[in-house]
Amino acid sequence: MSDCVFCKIAAKELPSYQVYEDDDFMAFLDIHPIANGHVQIIPKKHFRWTYDVPQFGRYFEVARIVALATKRAVNSDYISFVTFGIEVEHAHIWIVPRFKGDIHEGSGINTTNRIEFTKDEYIAIQDKVVHNI
Ligand SMILES: [Zn+2]
Repeated sequence: MSDCVFCKIAAKELPSYQVYEDDDFMAFLDIHPIANGHVQIIPKKHFRWTYDVPQFGRYFEVARIVALATKRAVNSDYISFVTFGIEVEHAHIWIVPRFKGDIHEGSGINTTNRIEFTKDEYIAIQDKVVHNI
């Protein structure tokens, strides 16, 4: 879809802090993260919902690879997979690193408190995730 921001990222028409890519999927840091190491995993082709992706099993295998790398990169206690799919109308899985006592504790996922990182901080997180894949 020509007006879809994730299609533009997949086509490299928009920049991203990419951490993973294969023929069908890519992963990049969320630019309005709700945790250190918040990653988006998307199919390169446009699908509205995660369950519309024909290679659904492979999609989650990629999510597992990226989740484990991200967990090691930011030393989180565990990872939450979030598939609300609401903010951008292109299938996406959120990898949300979780820490004891974080802002999400006891409330599911808190999407209202976003973290600001500098470009250098994003690059440092990106490098760590890539290094751990
Ligand atoms: Zn799209």
